[in-house]
Formats: sequence, C-alpha cells, structure tokens
Amino acid sequence: MFTIFSGFFGLCIGSFLNVVIWRVPLGKSIVSPPSACPQCKKEIEPRDNIPVLSYLILRGKCRNCALPISIKYPVTELITGVLFALAALQTGYSISFINYAVLISLMVVVVRTDLEQFIILDEVSIGGTVAGVLLALLPGGLGILKSLITALSGAAFFFLIRTGASIYLKKRNIRTKAPEGFEDEEDEFQGGMGWGDIKLAACIGAFLGPASTVIAFFSAFILGAFSGGFMMAFGGSKRDTPIPFGPFMAAGAVLALFFGEPLWTAYMNLMS
Ligand SMILES: [Zn+2]
Repeated sequence: MFTIFSGFFGLCIGSFLNVVIWRVPLGKSIVSPPSACPQCKKEIEPRDNIPVLSYLILRGKCRNCALPISIKYPVTELITGVLFALAALQTGYSISFINYAVLISLMVVVVRTDLEQFIILDEVSIGGTVAGVLLALLPGGLGILKSLITALSGAAFFFLIRTGASIYLKKRNIRTKAPEGFEDEEDEFQGGMGWGDIKLAACIGAFLGPASTVIAFFSAFILGAFSGGFMMAFGGSKRDTPIPFGPFMAAGAVLALFFGEPLWTAYMNLMS
C-alpha cells in the first residue's frame, strides 16, 4: 500500500520538479503564476496537468495550439515515481523514507539542469547539503557529525581532483572548451569539473555518510568514464568537449542510496 502511494506521490513530486527545473534557473517563482503553454500562453488546466497520464492523453501536444511537449517532462515524472516506489519498498513506512525521497528529488533536478544547461543550482547543492545535515539528526539518521564530516571530505576530494586535473591539462596544453553560452567563463571548465560538482559532492556526502559516499563517487567515475569513451567512439564527441559530470554523480548517489551498504560490505569482505 505504502509503496503504491509513494509511487503516485513521486509522480506528483516529479511534476513539481519539472516546474523547479524550468523556473528556478530563470529566477522565477515556483508557485505563481500557474503553468502555461510557452507558445500560446494558455494556462494549463488541471485535467491536462496529471503526471504522465495527461501527456499520453494529449499525445505530447498542447491542447490549445498543438505545440509539442517535450518527452522529458513525463520521463522526469515517471523516473521520480519509480524511484519513490523503490525507496518505499526498501525503507518501508519509516522515517528514512524522507531521506530517500529528498535525495532522489535533488538528484533528479541535478541530472536535468546539468544536462540541459550545464548548471547545478546552489539551491540544490548547498541547500541540499543543509537539508542532508539536518535530516541526519532524525532518529536512525547518520548523526550531525558524520554527515558534516562526510560533506566536507566529499567537497575537499572533488576540489583536489579538479585542481590536479587542471594542472595536468595545463601542462599538456589541453584546454577544455566551454559549453555554449559560457564562453567567457572558460576558466571555470578547466579540470573538467566546475564548482557545482564540488558543492554537489558535499550534498551527496551529507546524505549518504562515508561508506556509501565512497561507493557513490566510485560509481560516478566508472559511469563517467564509460559514457565518455562511448561518446567519443560513437557520438562524435571530442576530448575537449565538456561533458557535464553532475548526472553521473547523481546516478552514483542514487545507486549508493539503494545499494551502498551491501556494496561496501561486499568490497570490504573482498579486501580482507
Ligand atoms: Zn499552446
């Protein structure tokens, strides 16, 4: 029952995250005005605002002007819904479901904003770090000290990688191109990761604690390396093309959220 309810709750949260992803980078309010079609400006009626279902009924077009609606909206809702249901399955009806739900929501936003605009919102990374530390105070949580220390170590770790990578690339005279729209901030992209990634590392650390954070970062690098290689081989992407790293960190974080503890234990057994 709780799993099904959480799934539907996740669909609605996903719908809300769509609004956040669209409006927060533009500095717009997330509560008003109500959502409207970007072309004909007609307000979206409640019956056309049902997660996933409305998209299917409308066949992906605005009811008024037939402007195509991007598939990323229902996909975002669906993924959030499925992850919430899986979270409920794992945590049961308990306080730790809140942790899962908040981290999942934050990571969904990271994937979208970083893929689409090369940004990780401070509201998500810094705000998320604060949320993670506060949630660690709940019964059964990590505790404030563990959460804070992991957050700081996570950020420090990514800062070192960034510094190391930018020194290495500079020595070899490799310059990373800045993505479109960020040409005057090219220095930000040297070293292959931005400040957004460093702040995001703190957020992930605050939620997951030491063992799962190691699993999250490790998974992120593996996923990133595979995808980078794949993109260069088949996607026509070059070495100096920046690839946002946030989505890999988000994927690693969600993976570690669900499987961090067992993976860490398995790894430790392997080593001993
Ligand atoms: Zn329209």
